[in-house]
Amino acid sequence: MKQRGVTVWFTGLSGAGKTTISRKVAEILRSQAYPLEILDGDVVRQNLTKGLGFSKEDRDENIRRIGFVSHLLSRNGVIVLVSAISPYRDIREEVRSRIGDFVEIYVNAPVEVCEDRDVKGLYKRARAGEIRGFTGIDDPYEPPLNAEVECRTDLEDLSESVAKVINKLAELGYIPEAAAVGAL
Ligand code: ADP
Repeated sequence: MKQRGVTVWFTGLSGAGKTTISRKVAEILRSQAYPLEILDGDVVRQNLTKGLGFSKEDRDENIRRIGFVSHLLSRNGVIVLVSAISPYRDIREEVRSRIGDFVEIYVNAPVEVCEDRDVKGLYKRARAGEIRGFTGIDDPYEPPLNAEVECRTDLEDLSESVAKVINKLAELGYIPEAAAVGAL
């Protein structure tokens, strides 16, 4: 049977856990030989969307391009894991309706927790005024209203978050139920 492709879209604040969860999901699915690709916002901004900034227009263009590529891949049977802050709801919805096979993962931790983690030191720089328009500090983040999965990374550990994603993919028929991981 041909693999059904899907775009799995991780959205959330910087430091919420998008990269960490999507890498672990990738590791599990790759070990089961699924065709898979990762589009990580930080990496994409160094090539596909190089030169774009962080205005609303540029952020939307960034998401549109990521959505375009992930559509090409997922319609050819690839499981595409996108992790991008993607703070605006309307562009996420636009990408969702274009792609169709789209599963949204809201990686949610309070901004205080993300700031405390400060994985890349960006919150410190934003607070110091070195970065303007930083999502969650002085730029908006619009949470999904109908995400298929919400991972509360301040309340659950990584394995729980990962299991939620994998099990949702099984529930929606993108991977066999047998591939699902232990109950939560
Ligand atoms: P993002 O990609 O959203 O910017 P990262 O994945 O780079 O975020 O960083 C998230 C940080 O939060 C990592 O240091 C990770 O170890 C930590 N963390 C704690 N709990 C979780 C969890 N349940 N899921 C994912 N990350 C977690």
